[in-house]
Amino acid sequence: MTGGLKNRGRTKEDVEERRKGLEEVTGAFLEHIAHTSFDPIMAEKNVENMVGCVQVPLGFVGPLLINGDHAKGEFFVPMATTEGALIASVNRGCSAISAAGGAEVLIIKDEMTRAPVFRTKGVRDSKRVVDFVNSHIQEIKAEAETTTRHGKLIKVRAFATGRSLYLRFSYDTGDAMGMNMATIATEAASRYIERETGISMVSVSGNLCVDKKPSAMNFIDGRGKIVLADVTIPKDVVEGRLRTTVDSAVETCYRKNLVGSAMAMSFGHNAHIANILAAVFIATGQDPAQVVEGSMGMTTCERSGEDLYLSVRLPSLEVGTVGGGTRLPCQKEALSLMDCVGAGKAKKFAEIVAGATLAGELSTLAAQSAGELGKAHRELGR
Ligand code: NAP
Repeated sequence: MTGGLKNRGRTKEDVEERRKGLEEVTGAFLEHIAHTSFDPIMAEKNVENMVGCVQVPLGFVGPLLINGDHAKGEFFVPMATTEGALIASVNRGCSAISAAGGAEVLIIKDEMTRAPVFRTKGVRDSKRVVDFVNSHIQEIKAEAETTTRHGKLIKVRAFATGRSLYLRFSYDTGDAMGMNMATIATEAASRYIERETGISMVSVSGNLCVDKKPSAMNFIDGRGKIVLADVTIPKDVVEGRLRTTVDSAVETCYRKNLVGSAMAMSFGHNAHIANILAAVFIATGQDPAQVVEGSMGMTTCERSGEDLYLSVRLPSLEVGTVGGGTRLPCQKEALSLMDCVGAGKAKKFAEIVAGATLAGELSTLAAQSAGELGKAHRELGR
């Protein structure tokens, strides 16, 4: 048994032995967790101590019509969730957006960041290092890029306080979400800075990155992709399909997403962007912990003549179509539903995800403005 639990092997037999050992020690019976359709060796870069797989129910929404720079046309979006009523709601939003002619979606920034912290002798020493960084940016870029074929260092920004110096490295990471890539590249560049300036890196992540924590830094400056989406829903669709009125939706958005979020000093000025992101992230092999940054979106609503104008801003959408969990077979199949597998697809995928969040926001806002949220959850989720 001890051998089983400690065993780092990743063959089918290793996994079975480890699971049996765990069952023995705990007295639990992992009948369903044992059912894994793929060779565990495929997950060797994704998990340690593997004992099986957890199955999360998968549904889809769509067709969702998107007029993006990279995603154009109708899409079916996979969502893995255990929250009854979520998919029905987002699906209703998709149908309203498609009836309105589709969502405009665009990416305005695409940079993954890593910010190591260095120990200096004080503020003047920090200034000396910042001057060095600014005057050796080409050498720093070359060091970083020795570690990756696709990662490109875009810039390094300095933040100093006392004896701590933070250098926020920003990268174009191609079609990868880029967190491993940026970390490895930043470490190499930081070792060069240490050698040349004599200061010491305390941690390759100094928390100014900011990974998996809500922050004003990412809310304002962005991390991953900043994506904007909007749509104008005709009055008859608002009243027919969404069963509310333009004025009611606008007021709900104002008092809930804007005033309510401000009252709570929340970083998420939206109804439930995290819901859509979590379900799509789990389905497609994104890092679910990065829903934290993703959830910081802003949703706005205005009357546009007789109709309803709705927008979302996602300041920190961290997604990829290569690397990480996207290489696992179920997740790859889910990505294939949108033709988003592999190289050249990350921006398209990000636009589709943003379109799906717009659909989720629209439907939930409509349900809440019509007083139907509890009813939907009562009927579909219990
Ligand atoms: P990765 O799988 O570590 O790296 C991406 C790989 O894909 C690289 O080997 C890259 O090669 C290759 N690649 C092939 N075609 C590419 C293309 N068109 N564009 C970009 N890369 C391409 O993935 P990652 O996105 O850097 O990291 C994601 C993983 O990091 C997730 O599993 C996540 O959970 C984890 N994570 C790590 C940290 C951390 O601190 N390290 C933090 C949060 C999350 P080249 O490198 O040669 O270009």
